[in-house]
Amino acid sequence: SFQAGFPRLAAMEKNHGSISKGLKAARKARQISNPEGGRSSGQLWSFNQGLGTLIEALAEKLGKSNIRQFKATNLIHNKELSKWTVEGSNGESESYDLAILSCPAFSQASILKNLDAMLADKIATIPYNSLAVVVMGFRSGDVPIPLEGFGYLTPSSENRAILGVQWCSSIYRGRAPAGAVLLRAMCGGASRPEMVDLDDDSIAKIVYRELQASMQIQAPPYFLKVVRWKNAIPQYMVNHLEKVKEIEESLAKHPGLYLTGNAYKGISINDCVENAENLAVQIARWWSRSRETSS
Ligand SMILES: Cc1cc2nc3c(=O)[nH]c(=O)nc-3n(C[C@H](O)[C@H](O)[C@H](O)COP(=O)(O)OP(=O)(O)OC[C@H]3O[C@@H](n4cnc5c(N)ncnc54)[C@H](O)[C@@H]3O)c2cc1C
Repeated sequence: SFQAGFPRLAAMEKNHGSISKGLKAARKARQISNPEGGRSSGQLWSFNQGLGTLIEALAEKLGKSNIRQFKATNLIHNKELSKWTVEGSNGESESYDLAILSCPAFSQASILKNLDAMLADKIATIPYNSLAVVVMGFRSGDVPIPLEGFGYLTPSSENRAILGVQWCSSIYRGRAPAGAVLLRAMCGGASRPEMVDLDDDSIAKIVYRELQASMQIQAPPYFLKVVRWKNAIPQYMVNHLEKVKEIEESLAKHPGLYLTGNAYKGISINDCVENAENLAVQIARWWSRSRETSS
């Protein structure tokens, strides 16, 4: 579902009549608010040491002693005490005033199956795809085309082995030493799931052949790493938003239980962060209302 997967683009189309008009308006607004230039909200971004920096900063802010790390397997609601107890795979048990599940839909479904089997079944119907990321370092001299841009996506109609290639060293600083470039090819997904299960050598050969054809690369990579992300990307099917609405309606029966993460209203990190912020505001309101009624 376009609306669910790309909420920003859908809002642009709704508010401006078309996506291209919306993008133009957004660019204009950015120029007014930030005449000096700088990074725009639509631009790809990361941290110098990778995205783990974001999680480490959040953990730091929360205080590491306030964080418990275990695999949640079950959630119990004690209505009399208004407490949510999370149970873990190694016998852990921790109780809280409210519960927010932000793990993938299939994990949420498994955790919720004893609490509300119908809700869990509904959540479990959100399918996930796997991706293989093939990271390749080439000597600049072996890449004859100018790497000016973010890379390219392949049209799904071509059903190619690569979904897209990010020119990482053009997008982010410090991703390759001088005289080298770093490329990141994404493979697998709904159209080519078998790619993810190939061994490293086979997948690297296929990707290299594709890069030779599309970018005229002259020599094999001098650096190679294959990372597999199993069940990492939720698939928003055509009825996704109706499904999300039904899940939200079922949640009304469980005050104090919240669901978020990339399964529902946007897959990109920007969308996940925005949805988490909105949820935090919603919870703060619920919390102060419930304190008022109990005092
Ligand atoms: C290869 C790849 C490339 C991507 N590139 C981009 C990009 O360039 N730009 C972009 O915006 N987005 C990108 N995305 C999408 C984006 O990264 C994800 O959609 C987003 O990070 C998901 O965040 P999340 O918090 O919902 O889930 P996650 O980051 O997956 O976090 C879920 C957490 O739940 C934990 N968990 C699971 N089960 C349990 C359990 N039972 N108990 C306790 N914890 C549990 C997991 O360990 C994990 O830490 C990419 C995704 C992939 C896979």
